[in-house]
Amino acid sequence: MTRFLKHQEILNKCERINQDYEIDPGFFDRIVDDLLNSELDTEEVILEGFQSLLAEVDNEIERMESYSDMKPNCFKGCAFCCYFPIVVSRMEAKIMFRSIEQFSEERKNAIFRHWENYYKDQSGKLEKAFSMDPEDPQTKLAYKQLNLPCPMLDPETQLCMAYEVRPIPCRTYLNYSDPQVCAENHMPKEPFSYEFLYTYYFGAINELIQVLYENGEEIFIDYPMDAWSYDYLPAWVLKWREGTLNEI
Ligand code: SF4
Repeated sequence: MTRFLKHQEILNKCERINQDYEIDPGFFDRIVDDLLNSELDTEEVILEGFQSLLAEVDNEIERMESYSDMKPNCFKGCAFCCYFPIVVSRMEAKIMFRSIEQFSEERKNAIFRHWENYYKDQSGKLEKAFSMDPEDPQTKLAYKQLNLPCPMLDPETQLCMAYEVRPIPCRTYLNYSDPQVCAENHMPKEPFSYEFLYTYYFGAINELIQVLYENGEEIFIDYPMDAWSYDYLPAWVLKWREGTLNEI
């Protein structure tokens, strides 16, 4: 049965997770070890690692939800959080784009057609968004107020067009209260962010790429530069389309 938690209930449950729940980093470490010992080629290791580590973030959240007896009320087609600024590293953007290149022709072409319109229709908002400093604490609200959708959001279905490779910010923001709070507020106070999981995910993906780099494997990532270069996801998509993704 659907249950909308009150803000204070959410805070109490999160407090309990904070105090008593222990995250086992072994889940993330095992994914890295298994891939590095596998027979997969280097590109497969990177793409598989990216997807598996992100899926492990989902798994860890589910374990915490089960521990604290709460279920998110986010539902398919509710995409208010897809209007927040999504900031990712050039390394993640490159892996995401490589993954999209491996989608079926039909799926890929739908994304590329959507981008044709997106970058025309949203050019004014994008210009404003790109002028905002991602590190400024005021940016989140100002960006959300632009009402600029993520370039991966299908405008008809309101579903993510790259769901299985959506980055970590899209996975760690969940609403356990009435979904209406997301519809009515740019920055609702109720949704919970599992940002503390970033450390485990980033530690593991960095270790994976670093080992491949130190082993002299041919990788499509400029390591470590790409791991430390951050921008908005729509900015990376634009650079990828223009063929300037590698330019500093
Ligand atoms: S990548 Fe997908 S889930 Fe994330 S903001 Fe964009 S459309 Fe939404």
